[in-house]
Amino acid sequence: LSEEHTHPTGPHDDPGPDLIIRGGVVLTMAPGEDPMEEAEIWVADGRISGIHPSGTRRPGGRTELIAVPEGIILPGLINGHCHSAMTLFRGYADDLPLRRWLAERIFPAEARFLSPDTVYWGSMLACLEMTASGTTTFLDGYFFEGETIRAAEQAGLRALAAQGIIDFPAPGIPDPAGNLSAGRMFLEEWHGRSGRIAPGLFCHSSLTCSERTVQAAKEISMAFGAPLQIHLSETRGEVTELLRKTGKRPVHYLDELGMLDESLIAAHAVHVDAAEMEVLRTRGVKVVHLPESNMKLGSGIAAVPRMLDLGLTVGLGTDGCSSNNDLDMFREMDTAAKLAKVSSLDPQGLKARTVLEMATVKGAALLGLQDEIGTLEPGKRADIIVVGADVPHLCPMHDPFSALVYAADGADVTHVIVDGRVLLRDRRFLTLDEDRIMARVREIAATIRGG
Ligand SMILES: [Zn+2]
Repeated sequence: LSEEHTHPTGPHDDPGPDLIIRGGVVLTMAPGEDPMEEAEIWVADGRISGIHPSGTRRPGGRTELIAVPEGIILPGLINGHCHSAMTLFRGYADDLPLRRWLAERIFPAEARFLSPDTVYWGSMLACLEMTASGTTTFLDGYFFEGETIRAAEQAGLRALAAQGIIDFPAPGIPDPAGNLSAGRMFLEEWHGRSGRIAPGLFCHSSLTCSERTVQAAKEISMAFGAPLQIHLSETRGEVTELLRKTGKRPVHYLDELGMLDESLIAAHAVHVDAAEMEVLRTRGVKVVHLPESNMKLGSGIAAVPRMLDLGLTVGLGTDGCSSNNDLDMFREMDTAAKLAKVSSLDPQGLKARTVLEMATVKGAALLGLQDEIGTLEPGKRADIIVVGADVPHLCPMHDPFSALVYAADGADVTHVIVDGRVLLRDRRFLTLDEDRIMARVREIAATIRGG
């Protein structure tokens, strides 16, 4: 057999990859791999089909080429915890401690102004902001969460979107007796509908959900194979109050309820003592670090280097836009690295590469998707971003990890690709109408300010 017979279309007619992203420098974020200079990523059918030296192939007729000679190509960032639609309350209630911020400002505003329509537009704004700043996957928890799924679908982003569970009257669930059945209906409605967007449940906290509620939420989640999210030990007050009510610290309390396992994603974990950390480790609980929200609400500093040393999976997130006040994971990485140094008085406490791992590979592990996303490797989903480094504040670039964590911000992202589909090209949105989204959110915000 000649070559022509083994390749019926002939090697010159090979359609080649759908997309080539040509660097620059490629950070695969695969363990132990160094930055690759002058490399290019090939994408076919939504997945990475190869990583090659730049210029390996002249793009054929159907291959799209994104050439970024001064760009850094890396996996899309994974926001481990947020409340998308809270973009509506960005700057609405600042400079308050968590308890007063929630009770006096956020809960009443949510009760008055959240509807499927406002949650949809708030989520659209969040998707716009995340796309613009290089987040390709986000873990979300809120009310009317089906609207957040609709927004993520239109944006083309990947998400775990969780319906909020709380034992108080909540938006869309006026009677808390119906919160679990609403959660179950949400999972029934959205389970298995999308390969990119998984539904889940999100228990607000151990103080705002009863024993029965958290246990039932876990049972329902397990029935659908969905992870469960919860706010854990966010403030010292939460620990004190739970101790007073139950005699137990939050981690031990949840452990005795059978809540702790590898499908639990615990946001914050600020006030966790050594014994609790050990329990989290043995149970395989995944933790999300939210440094800016913890700083802004005066909650405290999570012992991230210690948790990582223990072998815990720790991702990184922004929290909602009312306690941050943005969804920019680059700013969050910068803060995470510096906060760890100032709290430990050790500049080696949390290094740039470690923080970038929290925002990529560790973020993927939160979702159990470490074999699908989080690194750039052949066979994985093509969730890829480009940071344009041809700007003064990223020049010169001695070390791309340092550049990304300590000098870049979300506005430096030029291209965003999810599942091989280009969502942002040269900073232009291909799936979202930014003017329309911001105009609608400004209208909603005017009604919120008007009371
Ligand atoms: Zn939160």
